[in-house]
Amino acid sequence: MNHALPFDNSYARLPERFYARQPAEKVTEPRLIAVNERLAARLGLDVGAHSRPDWLQVFAGNAVPEGAEPLAQAYAGHQFGGWVPQLGDGRALLLGEVVAPDGARFDIQLKGSGPTPFSRRGDGRAAIGPVIREYVVSEAMAALGVPTTRALAAVATGQPVWREMPEPGAVLTRVAASHIRVGTFQYFAARSDVEALALLTDHVIARHYPGASGPLGLLDAVVAAQARLIAQWMSLGFIHGVMNTDNMAVSGETIDYGPCAYMDGYDPMKVFSSIDQHGRYAYGNQPQVAIWNLAQFASCLIPLMGEEAAAIEAATQSINRFADIYQAEWLRLFGQKIGIEAASEEDAGLIHGLLNLMAAQGADFTRTFRGLADGRAQDEFADRAPFADWARAWQARIARETGAEARMRGANPAVIPRNHRVEEAIQAARKGDYAPFERLNRILATPFDLAAEDANYARAPLEDEVVRRTFCGT
Ligand code: AMP
Ligand code: MG
Repeated sequence: MNHALPFDNSYARLPERFYARQPAEKVTEPRLIAVNERLAARLGLDVGAHSRPDWLQVFAGNAVPEGAEPLAQAYAGHQFGGWVPQLGDGRALLLGEVVAPDGARFDIQLKGSGPTPFSRRGDGRAAIGPVIREYVVSEAMAALGVPTTRALAAVATGQPVWREMPEPGAVLTRVAASHIRVGTFQYFAARSDVEALALLTDHVIARHYPGASGPLGLLDAVVAAQARLIAQWMSLGFIHGVMNTDNMAVSGETIDYGPCAYMDGYDPMKVFSSIDQHGRYAYGNQPQVAIWNLAQFASCLIPLMGEEAAAIEAATQSINRFADIYQAEWLRLFGQKIGIEAASEEDAGLIHGLLNLMAAQGADFTRTFRGLADGRAQDEFADRAPFADWARAWQARIARETGAEARMRGANPAVIPRNHRVEEAIQAARKGDYAPFERLNRILATPFDLAAEDANYARAPLEDEVVRRTFCGT
């Protein structure tokens, strides 16, 4: 490939036990589904038309760009609370780290590029459905202003993968601040490999939290980043679906879009994932789960923190700060959603009042909040009287605010990746029609501004369009 990528692979310079070097498995008939030109520009990569054939081979795993050092990262994790001592990249490869023109560093990873030493019984491949879902939802997240991994490209491999039935295979090129997870720390902690933990800690501090001092400073920083992240998810009605410790990035980015979904009707305990039978990762449980995961992270850092009793005490205090940071961020975000610039504890009652009405009537989460600025929120309630009462108190409160309407329009998206639209894009893509996927991406690129001709993308699903279950699709 004649376009040199600005690779600088710091992870590949860590000791060999952090990963397995592994080339991608070639595919016979790759076809480009999408390339994200705006993200490429952000990274300083030239993906112009003349270079597309070269890029297609890179995104398919058929060509290794100069400077890339493909490897599968080792990690462990708690899945639904159960400990798994070895997971690792079973169907993904880190090609390397690209340093953007502004100096920011990004992992470039292929997902679905063939088996690795961590594949266990899996085929190392991805089906087109999960690739389309991750592309759409992660890019929508970025447009909504939420820290997230990104999608640089999607390629159809031309080869079927076998799930419940044969599905077209695909590869996603994922971009992330890093792919280091809580589970990466757990992998070494479980092996009592304190030397590796110390190296990993230094690596993550240098890369993500240069202001943090030592393992305790790192813990504080990750706790704060996760508290803010989860508050953002909550403010958008997002349900991650598989918040296993191996799916929690220490960078504070949303990662691993498996059975994730945005809810339509508000239900604080909503679950979509077919494998989440007990609702462990229900919408309303997400803050608690994050704390649980962070406690696992903290326990990995204890061996680096000196005298054990004092270390446990300090780590516990750090974890305990999650609740305050989360609450403050939640209040700020939901305050803005109802037009208040800096909501106080007194305003919390107003916010909860609305959420309770929404829960009681299953009002659409996105439409109700967006409707506040448009004067249409009452349309989301079958029984309007309780909402009218709430709205009187709310009007009185926001009379004291300036610019409330613009604030609400900036905080409440008109459009989110609704499940039925994602599903529609997936079903078409399976048949080789990428038009619905492209249209959805285009609309979700500006979620706070919806063109009149796209108004149909803001509506709730009709009864026969409602998606009740989502699948990991692994
Ligand atoms: P996930 O559910 O995507 O978070 O994946 C959990 C673990 O299963 C990770 O170690 C993945 O690499 C592995 N995995 C998932 N799907 C496959 C697959 N098709 N082939 C090999 N490994 C897989
Ligand atoms: Mg995962």
